[in-house]
Amino acid sequence: MSSSKKPNSAQLDRSNPEVLQRMLSNHLIYTEGKSVATATERDWFEASAHAVRDQMIEKHLKTTEACVDQDPKRLYYLSLEFLIGRTLSNAALNMGLEPALRDSLKALGHDLEEVEETEIDAALGNGGLGRLAACFLDSMATLDLPGQGYGIRYEYGMFNQRIKNGQQVERPDNWLRFGNPWEFQRPERMYPVKFFGRVVQFSDGDGGIEHHWVDSDTVMAMAYDVPIPGYNTGTVNNLRLWAAKAAREFNLESFNAGDYLSAVQDKNISESLSKVLYPNDSSAVGKELRLRQEYFFVSASIQDILYHFLQKHSDWNQLPEKVAIQLNDTHPAVGVAELMYQLIDVHGLKWDHAWGLVTKIFAYTNHTLMPEALETWAVEKFERVLPRHLEIIYEINHRFLAQVNHLFPGDTELLSRVSIINESHGRRVRMAHLAVVGSHTVNGVAAIHSGLLQTTLFADFHRIYPEKFINVTNGITPRRWLNQCNHNLAQLISSRIGNGFVRNLDQLKGLIPHAEDAEFRKQFRAVKQENKARLAEYIKEKVGITVDINSMFDVQIKRIHEYKRQLLNVLHVITLYNRIRSGNAHTITPRTIIFAGKAAPGYKLAKMIIRLINDVASIVNEDPAVHGLLKVVFLPNYDVSSAEKLFPASDLSEQISTAGTEASGTGNMKMALNGALTIGTLDGANVEILEEVGDNNIFIFGLTTPQVADLRTKGYSAWDHYYGNEELRQVLDMIGNGFFSVEEPDRYRQIFDNLTHHGDHYLLLADYASYISTQDKVSLLYQDKEEWTRRAILNVANMGKFSSDRTIMEYADNVWNVKSLKQS
Ligand SMILES: *Cc1c(COP(=O)(O)O)cnc(C)c1O
Repeated sequence: MSSSKKPNSAQLDRSNPEVLQRMLSNHLIYTEGKSVATATERDWFEASAHAVRDQMIEKHLKTTEACVDQDPKRLYYLSLEFLIGRTLSNAALNMGLEPALRDSLKALGHDLEEVEETEIDAALGNGGLGRLAACFLDSMATLDLPGQGYGIRYEYGMFNQRIKNGQQVERPDNWLRFGNPWEFQRPERMYPVKFFGRVVQFSDGDGGIEHHWVDSDTVMAMAYDVPIPGYNTGTVNNLRLWAAKAAREFNLESFNAGDYLSAVQDKNISESLSKVLYPNDSSAVGKELRLRQEYFFVSASIQDILYHFLQKHSDWNQLPEKVAIQLNDTHPAVGVAELMYQLIDVHGLKWDHAWGLVTKIFAYTNHTLMPEALETWAVEKFERVLPRHLEIIYEINHRFLAQVNHLFPGDTELLSRVSIINESHGRRVRMAHLAVVGSHTVNGVAAIHSGLLQTTLFADFHRIYPEKFINVTNGITPRRWLNQCNHNLAQLISSRIGNGFVRNLDQLKGLIPHAEDAEFRKQFRAVKQENKARLAEYIKEKVGITVDINSMFDVQIKRIHEYKRQLLNVLHVITLYNRIRSGNAHTITPRTIIFAGKAAPGYKLAKMIIRLINDVASIVNEDPAVHGLLKVVFLPNYDVSSAEKLFPASDLSEQISTAGTEASGTGNMKMALNGALTIGTLDGANVEILEEVGDNNIFIFGLTTPQVADLRTKGYSAWDHYYGNEELRQVLDMIGNGFFSVEEPDRYRQIFDNLTHHGDHYLLLADYASYISTQDKVSLLYQDKEEWTRRAILNVANMGKFSSDRTIMEYADNVWNVKSLKQS
């Protein structure tokens, strides 16, 4: 299936605008039931989606056929989150239909951009981890790799964020209210998933024991399929999302007794499983419903994987030759026990045989070192929900510990440290340990993070299984994060080096000489200005603030978290404000400082940081002494669609986490790819961005990871910095004493206390002076438009490494051993 555009008798050439126009009109009438006279913009979106979808389905069916014919090894990506965003613009781009769609809509009196704006984001994820899964699907399809994503079809995705009186308010994300043109319900693909009950043992007749999981409750998992098109290829892969369905619609006993409400109650309880995404980022939840969500989608996915395997094969030894499963963090780690359960209890394999297969199939990606993010489950809870799986985990652990004891005889401390069961703080199941023991490969997501995994969190496991640990640095798809979101920049780049970079991002290196060309720099600046003007309009519309597009757009957009240090950025903002107020306005480079990001609803301090940003914004923005030199904007409801507007308009990328805390980051990559310069710490993928762009083209500041560790062990005094730096002291006092919250002077006392009395865990004060002096250098450079632009171009030119195509090729070659489908 090459990307042949030649129409044949069976296929209409949709890249011909007249053909596409007829299809749009037909879908408007026959799919939407609307006439041209009554159609809304939203109806034109639906018609466009169906027209694009028709072609995706044709290719999807061919991809499925090719998979049946070639029977390749397949990769199954298990992830509790897929942060997809909108699909129309992406599908049109990947399918090569964008120009025709634009022209057809125009001929019908509509504007593609306006039609696209009516699509509601599929926000089935929190942040980086979920967006990574979405970028990976794009790359797998683009590289013709036979792979499928598995996740949950949440009825409500990531909450919508509003700001009321400066504070975050959460609203449910009813994203399916108009239906979803991209999904296909598959009511025939249903699997039972069991919970609760108990285990009984039988002798199997030849001296062994059989385990039966009985008296359980059953919930049905129903498949919904979402086609995933590759860029400029015949491959269209599949994302399969599971929805919970009651095993029985009615409790017939209650129904017959006339109690209609309780007759449907069971149904409601079962179906609540896939109702809502947990809105926590980088922190474990511990709720029983979350454990049940995890098991629900993992069990359905593994049943589905085995069903497909058994269609063609009967020799279980071939399973690892046909199936690779990637665990996106520990959320699906119960899959290790589930595959054992399926193979042993359902299909009758012996333990050793099953374990030999399981450990050739799974691989695990770790996303964080932070203790609060590591999933553990109380043994009692786990036993109640999944009694048979706890037994299996005990047996896995027993055999694993015996092996460790053999390797390191008598080291009982080691045994208790690596045990899958933590026996020290109330008995808990450690999901990361289960994932490591059950996987053949464990990876971190950037070089520094993978290194730290091996020396800190998994140091013991690294001693036991040194060969399991590797690094695979994250990436982003250049289709969405350059071509789609920054069309004008992509066009400008193509005008100089052709468009091969879209599939081979290393070709951006061809831009290096153009950085020295004044005409190219001028064009590059013009694109950035246009993007800034577009964002300025959006900001005006959303929050009513007018911003100066000639000021530096200084942007920090990501989940709000203490470790990401939005507060450090706020300290800089207030420092600049104080400099202006004290008569040093002439030293200031005008800046628009933009924040966006959601706080987990239960994370009080993160919510307080949002409120502080908004309080600082209202004081600064309304102070006539500021003369427009400084504007602060908190843009509500950060999501993929607003990200697509923010990255292309950014001048300065804030990547300022405490060294050793951000596993990789991908926002840092999107920024640099769109021509922003980075101010950042030596953390996550910033380290590799520095390697790629060179230290002249990035602003690095602050403590390194070893310095952070050192400072913490030696004992760090925040007060030394408070008393030692007058600018800093003034800023902190203003926050602590209510300068930004006159009506409630104590509002931010806790922030002051955390940064001083409570020890400043994320070392903001230790990094403050270095951050401020580096920001001063940023300001100075921004005055030199030509040099700034030159360096911005060099950032774009050196981002090739951060394509998720490179990341996926590394997984395919080094972890999955999966090969591209042959195109017919
Ligand atoms: C890329 C992205 C993220 C991750 O951003 P980081 O800066 O790496 O934390 C989160 N949310 C959205 C919507 C994104 O597009």
